Amino acid sequence: MSDKLFDRRDIQFVLYEMLNMESLCERERFSDHSRETFDLVLDTAEQVAMEVFWPHYQSMDAEGAKFDGKDVTLPKGMHEIWETSKKGGWFGPAMDYDCGGQQMPYLMQSTISYLFNAANTSAYMFIGQAGGAAYLIYLFGTPEQKEQYLEKLMGGGWGGTMCLSEPDVGSSLGDITTTAIPSADGGHYKIKGVKRWISSGDHDLGDNIVHPVLAKIEGGPPGTKGISLFIVPKYRLDENGEAGEFNDVLTAGIEHKLGLRGQPTATLNLGDNDDCHGYLLGNENEGLREMLHLVNSARIHTGVQAIAQASAAYQIALKYSRERIQGREVTNMDPDLEAVTIIRHADVRRMLLWQKAYVEGLFSLLGYCALLWDTTNTGETEEERERSDELLGVLTPVCKAYGSDKSTESIRLAIQCLGGAGYTEDFALGQMLRDNKVFSIYEGTNGIQGLDLLGRRVVRNNGSAFRALMEEIGKTLVDSDGVEGVADIREKVAEAQDKIVAVMTHLAGLGMGGEVALYTANSSLFLRIFSEVCISWQWLVQATIAQRALDAGTDETAFYTSKVETARFYVNNTLPLMHASAQIIMDNERGALDFEDAWFGGEGVPATAGA
Ligand SMILES: Cc1cc2nc3c(=O)[nH]c(=O)nc-3n(C[C@H](O)[C@H](O)[C@H](O)COP(=O)(O)OP(=O)(O)OC[C@H]3O[C@@H](n4cnc5c(N)ncnc54)[C@H](O)[C@@H]3O)c2cc1C
Repeated sequence: MSDKLFDRRDIQFVLYEMLNMESLCERERFSDHSRETFDLVLDTAEQVAMEVFWPHYQSMDAEGAKFDGKDVTLPKGMHEIWETSKKGGWFGPAMDYDCGGQQMPYLMQSTISYLFNAANTSAYMFIGQAGGAAYLIYLFGTPEQKEQYLEKLMGGGWGGTMCLSEPDVGSSLGDITTTAIPSADGGHYKIKGVKRWISSGDHDLGDNIVHPVLAKIEGGPPGTKGISLFIVPKYRLDENGEAGEFNDVLTAGIEHKLGLRGQPTATLNLGDNDDCHGYLLGNENEGLREMLHLVNSARIHTGVQAIAQASAAYQIALKYSRERIQGREVTNMDPDLEAVTIIRHADVRRMLLWQKAYVEGLFSLLGYCALLWDTTNTGETEEERERSDELLGVLTPVCKAYGSDKSTESIRLAIQCLGGAGYTEDFALGQMLRDNKVFSIYEGTNGIQGLDLLGRRVVRNNGSAFRALMEEIGKTLVDSDGVEGVADIREKVAEAQDKIVAVMTHLAGLGMGGEVALYTANSSLFLRIFSEVCISWQWLVQATIAQRALDAGTDETAFYTSKVETARFYVNNTLPLMHASAQIIMDNERGALDFEDAWFGGEGVPATAGA
């Protein structure tokens, strides 16, 4: 198998040359592993991705998940993928051995997920979500709950979801209306409400589906402080712990969506017949805080999904550009000359370079964040763990929002490389663009990510997370000082860092002056330029390692040179515009804040044509 949806050499570079993943094996938790076992697992995951997930990518979209008013039927290929995943134990490689995991570093789990998502993101969602539900129960479940649910979820016996959204509540979770009333015997809560947009919400992959559900216990405090988390299985457990009596979790329908069509995104009616039992997971009224453990990892994972797909699109565009013959080089247009492959045209190389820069720049940040996750959980000192947690907090919106936005841009460019062929359904690229759009929407829209970054994450603890990040960038600047081949890149990253500090200082002044609306008015723009600094930093890290390899002498001149030159391309083509965008914030741009409703023009029309 020579055609790949990802570049394994680049993955090896990030895991070992940048992040030194094998050093994690010195930690007790990972002591059974080694570079050899990591590579073996990645080889197997790669094979499964290419031979089991990928062949069903387009057929799952064409067939789609179907609902007949009662049951959901999945595209045929999904059952094969599920069975293979069960055999391979892919449901949560980072979980503890005694929960059915393999105690791999989260960095490994994230990389495995990258390979599967590149091949078939709809399919991998079923697997990742079963693992996600298990993770919540692992963190907050009682010993009995762990006993009841973990093995089934981790072994693929049962599916899992996460149920936050409702028909009228998406971004503002404090307003959810699903209720929970304690039963007289105290054994469970009666759940009543409607959850909408639930990925993997109903299917027949296993005997049961475990829904972690956010609901409000009657009489509790208003807003987010009154939210609790419940385990709501589709079927209640019988005396043997198997799926038993129906738990009044009724599928009302599944969405007809732009993309991810192999995925049933369900509306679930909970307790239509007053017979839906929920079991408190964790503590009363702490449900949102608890669910955020999963949401935060899911946000980083959304970046993984997005960039994995951009990687697949890039590899398709690359192959096509090397084979498609069209036109002559601009320096010699003689019609008697043979036409050239389109990769010879600078504009096509420009499009390919952007894709490479986004994919490899963001993969590097996603890897760094996965390592932070590992250090937060297994770092040696309390100080190390806390610092990693802070860094992770401030970088999560970058992974989620910049990752998803730039993956869409990257796939758009891949389509452009193919010309008219890219616009057809013969190739997978159109589907990738459709599938990909949701990554900017779910797990908190990218607009909400900007508000979260500026409103909470950079200001928490007097800005200590922001300062920690600046220190990390500072360390890279020190490390790269004196590496001649990257001096120009280093200088530009240093200037960009100064600029983002200046913007933050300016915004802090607005915030302290009580100008809250103006402080957040440009939060999406802030998130973008903040992300551009972060990815430029990641590229400087990569370029420095690569330049040192070149300086020391290497057989892989093309690979390492490509790293330095892609870093230079990203920085040269991004940071001048970043400075201009920063100026917009420094100038207190308030157009969107002050523009009145009436000035938009027209009345607007309903979202359905002709309605
Ligand atoms: C395919 C798919 C799968 C999904 N899977 C799940 C799932 O498994 N579980 C689950 O619980 N949910 C899921 N969701 C729901 C998803 O998380 C929500 O759609 C998302 O959080 C946005 O909520 P909304 O759709 O209600 O949009 P709204 O909240 O109505 O937002 C509409 C627009 O307004 C903006 N906006 C809203 N509030 C503010 C504000 N305060 N300030 C500034 N801008 C604001 C938003 O950024 C957005 O651009 C899924 C959605 C989709 C499409």
